[in-house]
Amino acid sequence: MLLSISTTHRPATDLGHLLHKHPDRLSAFDLGFGTAHVAYPEASGERCTAVLLVELAPEAAGRRGAGPTSGVGRTGFALAGSVNDRAYTASSLLAVAIGRVLGSALRGASNDRPELAATPIPLEIDLPVVSVRGGPALAARLFEPLGVEVRAEAIPLDPAFPDWGDSRFFHLQLRATTTLRQLLAQLYVLLPVLDDDKHYWVERSEIDKLLRRGEGWLATHPDRELITRRYLRHQPRLTREALDRLVVADGDLVDADAADEAGAAEEAAIERPLSLNEQRLAAVVAAVEEAGARTVADVGCGEGRLIQRLLRLPAVERVTGIDVSMRALRCASERLHLDTMAPRQRARVELAQGSSVYRDDRLRGVDAITAIEVIEHLDPHRIDTFTSCLLGHPGARTVIVTTPNVEYNARFAGMAPGALRHRDHRFEWTRAEFAAWAASAASEHGYRVAHRGIGPDDPELGPPTQMAVFAR
Ligand code: SAH
Repeated sequence: MLLSISTTHRPATDLGHLLHKHPDRLSAFDLGFGTAHVAYPEASGERCTAVLLVELAPEAAGRRGAGPTSGVGRTGFALAGSVNDRAYTASSLLAVAIGRVLGSALRGASNDRPELAATPIPLEIDLPVVSVRGGPALAARLFEPLGVEVRAEAIPLDPAFPDWGDSRFFHLQLRATTTLRQLLAQLYVLLPVLDDDKHYWVERSEIDKLLRRGEGWLATHPDRELITRRYLRHQPRLTREALDRLVVADGDLVDADAADEAGAAEEAAIERPLSLNEQRLAAVVAAVEEAGARTVADVGCGEGRLIQRLLRLPAVERVTGIDVSMRALRCASERLHLDTMAPRQRARVELAQGSSVYRDDRLRGVDAITAIEVIEHLDPHRIDTFTSCLLGHPGARTVIVTTPNVEYNARFAGMAPGALRHRDHRFEWTRAEFAAWAASAASEHGYRVAHRGIGPDDPELGPPTQMAVFAR
C-alpha cells in the first residue's frame, strides 16, 4: 500500500518538519500487522514528496482466505488483485498506519514549524490503488465538499483484456490548499469509507476517533450520514450514537437530555420553527448581564450551550456547569473544547456532576444561578428540595428559572392535545402554576420575583417559554 504526499510550498522540504520525518532518512515502523516505511523520493526547495509504504505481514495480507499473496507484478496475473487485494489496496489499514506513523502530523503538532502546521499549503496526495465502492462519483461526493479536488482513474481489471472492463480500484489523486493536519484527518476517515469493507468488527472507541478526526468538517459534510455509517461498518447503534454526538457537537440539537435523547430531538423539532432555544438563551444571557453577575452557576447545564454564551461576556469571570448526567457533561466539555482551551479561558469554566436536589457547595457565593428548562424534569415531590437548593442555602443575588408554558403547546404544529414537549418532562406548568410556585418560593426565601416571557407572546395563551428572575 502506497501513499504519497507532495507539496510545492517553499521551502518544500519543510514537509519533513510537518511529518516529523527527516527527508534524508529512511524510517521503518513496526505496525504489528506489517511494516511501514517513510521515504522521500524527491526533496528540493520547490517540491517535496514523502511516501508512506505499508507492507503487510503475510498473515495479515492473507486474512481474507486467499492463501499466500502472489502479487500482481510477479505473476502478471492481474486478477490476483481481486482475489486478494489487501496487500495493495489503500484501505483502513493504511488509515491505521497514518494514525501510528504520522500521528503528530495528524494532530497538527510540529515542534519546529508550529505556524506552518496551522497554515494552508498546496498539497497533493497520490494513492495508486484505492478500492472505491461507489466509483469516481462517490469519491467526488466525499472530497469535493471539503474543497479537495479529486481525480479518480479506473484501473482496468486486466489491461490485456479491455473487454473485461474496469475493476473497482482507482488511482486517486487529491489536491487541495489546506493544512496537512486537515487533509490527513480527512484521508484517515475517508479511506475506510471509500473501501466500505464490512468484514470486521469495529469497537465503540472508533466513534471517538471519528469525531476527533472529523472535527471541523464532518458535522457540516452533506454526506456525513453515509460517512459515519460506512466508517462504523454499518453498525446501526454505533452509527446512531455517532450521528447524535456529531449533531450535538455541531449545534443542531436543542435541549439534549441524557435521560432521553430521542425526547430531546422531538422537543427540538417541535420548538425549532421558533428557534426558541436561541431566544431562550439570549433572554437568559440578557438577564445575567442585567444582574451584573460575575460568577454564574448553571444547574442542569446539559450540553453547555448557555455556558458557551456566558463565556462570551467579558464581565463574567467564572461559570460552573452542574448536571446529573455524565453524558451531558461530556458533550458540554466537547462543545466548549475544554481540552484545547487556552489556560486563562480554561480557568473560567468548571463542569461538575451534581444534582439540583442536593445541597451543593459549588453554588455558594456565586452571583447568579440559572436553571434553564430543568425544573420540569424533576418529579413533583422533589420540587420543594430543588427550590431550597436554588434559593435557600446558596444565597445568590439572582436566580433565573425557565420552563415551558404548557398553554402554548396548542400552538405547536403536530403536537397531540395534552402531550408534553419532551418525553422526560414530568409536568409542564401553566402560567398560573409557574407564577404560584415562584411567588411562594420568593416569599419563603426572601426574594423578589419578576416574570418574563420568551418567544412570541400569544394574546390568549402567552409565550412558549416562561422565565422567572428572582432577585434580592
Ligand atoms: N439547561 C440546558 C439543559 C436542559 S435539559 C439547556 O437549556 O439546554 C435538562 C437537563 O437537566 C439535563 O441535562 C438533565 O441531565 C439535567 N437534570 C435533570 N435532573 C437534574 C438534577 N436533579 N440535577 C441536575 N441536573 C439535572
